[in-house]
Amino acid sequence: MELKTNDISEKHHDPKSGVLYLVGTPIGNLGDFSPRAKHLLSNVSVIACEDTRYSGQFLKRFQIKSTLQSFHRHNTKEKIPKFLSMLKQGKSIALISDAGLPGISDPGEDLVSATKSSGHDVICIPGPCAATTALIISGLPTKRFCFEGFLPTKPKDRESIIKIISQEKRTTVIYESPHRLLKLLKELANACGDKRPLQVSRELTKLHEEQIGSTVSSVYKYFSVNKPKGEFTLVLGGCKDERQEKSQQELIKSMKVLLDKGLSKVDAAKTISRETGYSRNYLYSLFFENNHNNS
Ligand code: SAM
Repeated sequence: MELKTNDISEKHHDPKSGVLYLVGTPIGNLGDFSPRAKHLLSNVSVIACEDTRYSGQFLKRFQIKSTLQSFHRHNTKEKIPKFLSMLKQGKSIALISDAGLPGISDPGEDLVSATKSSGHDVICIPGPCAATTALIISGLPTKRFCFEGFLPTKPKDRESIIKIISQEKRTTVIYESPHRLLKLLKELANACGDKRPLQVSRELTKLHEEQIGSTVSSVYKYFSVNKPKGEFTLVLGGCKDERQEKSQQELIKSMKVLLDKGLSKVDAAKTISRETGYSRNYLYSLFFENNHNNS
C-alpha cells in the first residue's frame, strides 16, 4: 500500500458551517485525545455533550472554551430540532460522549439520523472506543463480531437477548456496569455453559488496566473474590458448531501432544490455531491457566 500525501495530511481543518461532527474523546487516558479533535472542538460553534459538568471539566483541561449544550436520552426530543435549526443557520456542531466515540450506547444515533435526513453532512473525528479496543486485545475471533452494548434490564427482554447471545456464532461485545457484572456472568454461565471463552477488559487505557479470562466460569470465580470496580467491557467467544468444536480439554491435550513432540509453545499454538480457528492468545491463556491450576 502506498501512502499518498493528500491521504496523510496532518492539517486540522476548521469546522465547516452546517456540519455535525462526531468527535472521539479518551476512554480513560487523556493522552489519547487527538490534536485534530482538540482543534475541532476549540473552533466549533457548539459542543453537544451528555453531561455539561463532566465534559466542562474535561474541556477545561485542554483550554477549550466553546459553548456547551446538554444532549442526553431525556432531552433528545426537544434538543434535536434545536440542533437542526442551528445547522440550518450555518453553525457547526460537535457531539461528544462522556467517553469514547459518540453514537455508541448513547442518544447520538438519533441526532445523526435526523441530521442526515435533513440533508446536512456528518463527519467523524475518530478516537478510542471501548468495544473495539476490548475486542482486538481479546484474542477471540475478530473476523465476524457483534455488539450488544448494555443488555436490557427488564427481565423478559433480558432473558430473550441472553438466549440469542447463547446461540450467537460470532464474537459478542457487551458493556456492563461494575454492580451488575456478577449477575451478568451468572446469567451467561447458565445460558452459554461455563466453559464458553470470555475475556473481560477492565479500566482500558487507565493505570489499573487488566484483562481477565479465559472462560465464563473462571471470570465469575475471579470476580466473586475480587469485587468488580471500574469500567468493564466483555468479549464473549461465539457458540461453536458442535461438530467443529474442540472442547477445552481436547485443545489442552493437543497442545501437550505437540509440546511432547518437541514443538515450541509458539509453534504448537500456531498449529492448533490454524486447525481450530482459536487465536494463539486464547490457546496460550487456556494452556497456561490449566497448567497453573494443575501445578
Ligand atoms: N461511547 C463509549 C465508547 O465509545 O466506548 C461507550 C460509552 S458507554 C455509555 C460506557 C461503557 O463503555 C462503560 O459502562 C463500559 O462498559 C465501557 N467502557 C467505557 N470506558 C471503558 C474502559 N476504560 N474500560 C472498559 N470499558 C469501558
